Amino acid sequence: MDEKTSTSPEVEADIERTPVEPVEQEGLEQLISQLDKTRAVLGEWSLQAQCLDADPEAFFPERGGNTRDAKRVCAKCPVARECLAYALANEVRFGIWGGLSERERRMKRRELQIKAS
Ligand code: SF4
Repeated sequence: MDEKTSTSPEVEADIERTPVEPVEQEGLEQLISQLDKTRAVLGEWSLQAQCLDADPEAFFPERGGNTRDAKRVCAKCPVARECLAYALANEVRFGIWGGLSERERRMKRRELQIKAS
């Protein structure tokens, strides 16, 4: 493990204890149904993405890596619902989108029973 990616156990514990407010997901199903018509097209919302200047590695961590830094950015993002709806509608498999990890999005897809087309 190189110096850039290593984190001390104390810092890891601190990261785990720091709560990240979940992204507001109200109206998600309606957004998804709208986005389904324009699958694989990032909308104008993406121009307001809070992560445009963020470290991409934070949003695409290795398996089991820290997702909190990205989720903190997402929690303040004005287009988090649109981003999550896009990722769910297009079954984006990697990275943090709309404040959710890949696994969390799979669970959300099941919860919303989004069908792949
Ligand atoms: S919700 Fe997160 S990943 Fe999506 S655009 Fe906003 S900051 Fe980027």
